[in-house]
Amino acid sequence: MHEFGIAEAVLDAVERRAEGRKVARLRVRAGTLLRITGPAFDQAFSLVSPETVAEGATVDLIVVPARLICRSCGEDQETFDALAVCGACASTDVDLRGGDELVLESIQLEEVATHVSGNSRRDRGDSAGPY
Ligand SMILES: [Zn+2]
Repeated sequence: MHEFGIAEAVLDAVERRAEGRKVARLRVRAGTLLRITGPAFDQAFSLVSPETVAEGATVDLIVVPARLICRSCGEDQETFDALAVCGACASTDVDLRGGDELVLESIQLEEVATHVSGNSRRDRGDSAGPY
């Protein structure tokens, strides 16, 4: 399964960065050409992460577009479509760049995730003032 290979690669990067500390949350950028969706990745990650520093961590998956440069009309656009057709002139003579990256953008360690409330005043949202 494709998702598992990606989940394992991400877990690898998480473990290297966490250095044994427990991870609460991680943010991953995946190119659209990897054709991965949030739910599929979540599921794969929850299967590879038990008994690691990332067990139970929340995963934010951000799918990033590829860049499509048309050789016919010079149009330069972002695309989530791996079929790669120019959106301006419908030419298929295009250059597809990027869209295949897999980047562990950030991790949030569990200690840091404990928020200290500095302001206990509740915003009840029932005042008449416009925001
Ligand atoms: Zn074009």
